[in-house]
Amino acid sequence: MKLSNLALNLTPSEPRRIYDEAQKYTGVIDLTLGDPDLPPPANVQDAACLAIKAGKTRYSANAGLLPLREAIAECAEKEYGMKFDPKSEIMVSVGAMESAYLCLWSLLNPGDEAIIPAPYWINYGEVVKSLGAKPVFIETSPNDNFVVQPEDIEKAVTPQTRLLVLNSPSNPTGAVVPGKILDRITEIAIKHDLFVISDEIYNHLVFDGKQAESILTRPGMRERTAVINGFSKRYAMTGWRVGWTLGPVPLIRAMSQMTENIVACAPLPSQYAAIEALSERTDESYILKEFEKRRNCVLEELQTIPQITCSGIPATFYGFLNVSATGMSGEEFAMELLKSKQVALIHGSAYGGKAYKDFVRIAFTMNCSLLRQAFSRVRDFLKERS
Ligand code: PMP
Repeated sequence: MKLSNLALNLTPSEPRRIYDEAQKYTGVIDLTLGDPDLPPPANVQDAACLAIKAGKTRYSANAGLLPLREAIAECAEKEYGMKFDPKSEIMVSVGAMESAYLCLWSLLNPGDEAIIPAPYWINYGEVVKSLGAKPVFIETSPNDNFVVQPEDIEKAVTPQTRLLVLNSPSNPTGAVVPGKILDRITEIAIKHDLFVISDEIYNHLVFDGKQAESILTRPGMRERTAVINGFSKRYAMTGWRVGWTLGPVPLIRAMSQMTENIVACAPLPSQYAAIEALSERTDESYILKEFEKRRNCVLEELQTIPQITCSGIPATFYGFLNVSATGMSGEEFAMELLKSKQVALIHGSAYGGKAYKDFVRIAFTMNCSLLRQAFSRVRDFLKERS
């Protein structure tokens, strides 16, 4: 059979390839996917069950249940001190993944360029390409803690540049863009008339009592920013598939219309659960606490492995680790470690090409005892190779 050129142009996902490869082994400790192992808060689970029992299982408006959009508006007001109209400036989606897809679909014409700081969440590059637009990757460096440098953004701007993707806190590096840098990015976005997609899906997983700032709150940015967020990470609800976008009216209108042709709406029981999640009855603080504990455990274990370095993990549940002192590339390290010790992780080049060939990404979505076992296997692996 003959597939379309668009389908043929898709690059198979490296993380998925390694995840699938890992399933062939027994006793694998799997650090590949960013899928929290914790349960969602009990009241949120109950709300989904109640919705199902009450027959709240049909379609909703394309943009999502209005009470959910109202709850998101309230949450946005608390977070950003800004009011959003639930009827025209908010859309509920099937995970933040659909938000990202629909935003890019609504904003990019073939030939347009989208600036994406690397290393990056793979979907952004693939979706931009699938639309016939061009992803323009700009490298970030461990010397800057993987924080994007405004001058690098400005250098990448061409007459074709339409938008910038910002993902702070970042998957795969955990980097958080400081407020001062956001101020400088704002100046560049306004000067060059760039739209900004601000993916803030990890903004409730920031450690050490700190908070991530948003470019949305900068003067002049509201009309040129779409904020993407969701329930997957903050409430450990990946499989529930609910996310949202805050954005200018024409963008939200286009996205809501297009979703009718893809999924119609996010799953209804999940939307009811999401309303409960945003209520004041929910206490999701155990999720942040647990990931902070695991982050500490990862950093402690890394102290015992001098061949592997990390520039810090201020947020998220990912570590982006430099393995060059092991004498292996990230890819060699990942494949050999899986074969010999059944620990699965992803090589850094999967998230941004050759510049990150010395790195691997781990997702610490398992308890400290398993994490310590994983690092003990890494130590054995390196000892055997020395
Ligand atoms: N943005 C980023 C940066 C992510 O890492 C992910 C999930 N890995 C998403 C968006 C999508 O999340 P979801 O669709 O589960 O809400």
